Amino acid sequence: MYIDVHAHLDLLKNVLEVINNCKKKNIIIVAQGINPKTNRQVLELSENNSNVKSAIGIYPDEILKLSDKEIENELSFIGKNIKLNKATAIGEIGLDGTYENMEKQKEIFVKLVKLAIKLDKPVIIHSRKAEFEVIEILEELKCKKVIMHCFSGSKKLVKRIIKNKWHLSIPSNVKYSLQFQENAKICPIKQLLCETDSPFLSPDKKFPNTPLNVIESYKKIAETKKLKLDMVESIIEDNYKRLFFDR
Ligand SMILES: [Zn+2]
Repeated sequence: MYIDVHAHLDLLKNVLEVINNCKKKNIIIVAQGINPKTNRQVLELSENNSNVKSAIGIYPDEILKLSDKEIENELSFIGKNIKLNKATAIGEIGLDGTYENMEKQKEIFVKLVKLAIKLDKPVIIHSRKAEFEVIEILEELKCKKVIMHCFSGSKKLVKRIIKNKWHLSIPSNVKYSLQFQENAKICPIKQLLCETDSPFLSPDKKFPNTPLNVIESYKKIAETKKLKLDMVESIIEDNYKRLFFDR
């Protein structure tokens, strides 16, 4: 079984075709919601497709577009759906230094992380140009079930993530990205997961990317760790089950 822990299925045009092709190849997809609309879309996709799981959250940029009331409503919607086991994680959430109002971003990010801790579910973290701030907050809140998605911070910060026993998900563009190759190299395999960030980050610099390409992350990890592909597949399946389902 292959697992793509981070894809934006709502952005793919032929989404049902992609999901069915993934099913044939034994690929599980964790579809990410980023706002009220996409949270509902990914929940519907996971409800109707056995190989789709959903993560629901509020993306940094989306925090700034919602009123306080809308944010409160969404926080309770997220809590409710996690409790009902309809969503398996809280994501995509985090901080982004390229957007304004970092104080507001932090305020809501903290609430989302606290909710995940209370419900004992993983957080899937976006940290563009705010890598240090994100790590500080997660450490301070003693968050344990963490997936750092597409982590682009320094090697020093990667080591801090490893020390905290968090997970790094390696995107399919690791095929050419030296940064992600380095992340895969220094992180113990027990803390690695794979993702595509579809429709972005294609391994061939094309658009759109799809979860079918998650295999590229597996191949690169196998090459980097000098392990057979089926061994990588089985270790990462264990990582995923342990983190998402306590198995
Ligand atoms: Zn994303």
